Amino acid sequence: MKPHVYDKDRRYALLIVDMLYDFVYGKIKCDRSVSMIPRTAQLLDAAHDAGVPVFYVNDSHVRKDFEMYRWGEHAMRGSRGARVIGELRPRKRDSQVPKQTYSSFYGTRLEKELKRTHDGKGSNTLVLTGLHADCCVRHTCADGFFRGYETLVAEDAVESFTELAYRTGLQYVKYWYLTDVLPTKKIVRLF
Ligand SMILES: [Zn+2]
Repeated sequence: MKPHVYDKDRRYALLIVDMLYDFVYGKIKCDRSVSMIPRTAQLLDAAHDAGVPVFYVNDSHVRKDFEMYRWGEHAMRGSRGARVIGELRPRKRDSQVPKQTYSSFYGTRLEKELKRTHDGKGSNTLVLTGLHADCCVRHTCADGFFRGYETLVAEDAVESFTELAYRTGLQYVKYWYLTDVLPTKKIVRLF
């Protein structure tokens, strides 16, 4: 049984996590992610149509980042690999939030920007799409939970390196953060 805390006053924000050249096609490419791009685009279009604020949360690394020890150089600040893929190009009013490790909240301006949305009332429900289900998406759900956000993950618009990692990631967020995991076609109807 899932409590839906904000059912009476649902204020969505769409988070597109790490849909960058290096993540999809480049240094740490994930072949499994290519086929989900149209669903992320669908979420993006639906958010734009409904006036749901859109945040691209993007790895933007510098050499001293601790994560370099785990993954090597990827999505280095200013490089092509750190840019959002052309298929999902941001619009002017969308926000691009750089991050330097897995969580979209850790050391970023995301929370501040979320509070300014919906005429200053702030968003209370985060819809997540992007990479990876078991890493940045999962850690963003965690940090969202810690801050009192409800989270919703588009099950057909997130991916991982393997099927097992994908399933494990989704199972984890459902269990620990009460994340709703729904197909894109259901999510776009909520906006
Ligand atoms: Zn990274």
